[in-house]
Amino acid sequence: MSLNSSIKTGIGYACDLFNILDLFLDKQSKPIVLCYHRVVPYDCFDLKFCSPGMYVSSDTFRCHIEFLKEHFNIVPLESIVLGSAARRACAITFDDGWWDNYSYAFPILKEFDVPATVFLATGFVENQQWPWPDRFAYYLRNADRGLFFESLSEAFASFDNGDAPSSDASEAAIINAVKRLSHKEICELADILDAHYPDLYQMLHNKNPALSWGNIEEMRKHGVTFGLHSHSHIIANDATPVSVVEEDYFRASEVYKARVGTASSLFAYPNGNFGPDLIRILRNLGMLASFTTQPGFVDLSETMTINRILVHDDISSSRGLLTYRLLSSLAKSVYRTGCIHGKQI
Ligand SMILES: [Zn+2]
Repeated sequence: MSLNSSIKTGIGYACDLFNILDLFLDKQSKPIVLCYHRVVPYDCFDLKFCSPGMYVSSDTFRCHIEFLKEHFNIVPLESIVLGSAARRACAITFDDGWWDNYSYAFPILKEFDVPATVFLATGFVENQQWPWPDRFAYYLRNADRGLFFESLSEAFASFDNGDAPSSDASEAAIINAVKRLSHKEICELADILDAHYPDLYQMLHNKNPALSWGNIEEMRKHGVTFGLHSHSHIIANDATPVSVVEEDYFRASEVYKARVGTASSLFAYPNGNFGPDLIRILRNLGMLASFTTQPGFVDLSETMTINRILVHDDISSSRGLLTYRLLSSLAKSVYRTGCIHGKQI
C-alpha cells in the first residue's frame, strides 16, 4: 500500500471510530447513490486486463455491503428519485451490465437482502462483444506494442478528431485519446484493431462479457431493477453529432422494451458525460431521472443530473478507504461553489 493510501486508510478508520461519517450524514440529511461497474474475484481471468477503476473484488463488495448496512439504509434507487427514501438512504448501482453482476454481485445482494439497480448498455447485452477499452487493453498487453501503435497512428491519421497517443503513452492515456474521437471514428478504429488481432479477439470472446436477458429476468424477479446506459455505450462528446447520440439512446429504449416488456425510466450517462441536449433527449424518451459520475449527495432539484460516487478497488478496498472516499467526496461536493464540475458538454 502506498503512503498516500495508508494515510487515507488511517484517516478513514479514525473517522469511522469517532462516527464522523454518521454525524456528517445526519447533518446533511440527503441520500447518496454509489456507482460500481464490475465485481470479480481476485483470481478471475478478466482481471488481467480490467483497469483498477472498473472493479471491486467480491471480498471488497461484501465488505462494502456490511459497512453500508451499518451506516445507511440501503434503499431502491426509485425511492430516492421519488423522494420517499428513509433517512441516511443509500442506493447501489452498477453500470454497463457485466456478466459478473449476476455471478458475483447478485448472490451477495441476495444474501444481505439489499436492492440494486443495473444500468444496461443494451447493445452490450445483445451483441456480447467486449467493450473497446477492454479489447484495446487486451491487445496492448498481449501483442507487439510497436505494431499496436503503428496501427493506432495510421488510423488516427485518417480521422478528423484528436491526435494519436505517443508510443510511450499509458493504457489510460490511450483510452482517453480514443474517447475524444467521434463515435463513428471509435467504431472504425475498433474494427481496424480487431482485424489486426483475430486470434486475441477470438480468445477474448470465448466468454460472454455481458449479462444475458435470462440473467436479467432472474435478477428482476429478485428485486434488482434496470435502467439504461445507451445502446452502444456511446460517449457523447463534441466530435459526435447529437443526432447520433439521440438515435443510440432511442435504440436502447426500444431494445429494452422489446426484451423486457416494459419501459425503463432511469438512465446513467456513459462515461459520465452529460449536457442540455442529452437531458432534452432523455426527457423526450420519458426518463424520470438520469445519473452522472459527479460525486456528491443527491439533489432532487436536478433529477436529470443526479450525483453518484464511484467506489472501486483502487480507492475503496477497505472500510478505512471507503470511509475516506465517501467523506472526502461528499465534503468536497458540499463546499464546492460556483464553477462547473464533471464532464458537462
Ligand atoms: Zn459505462
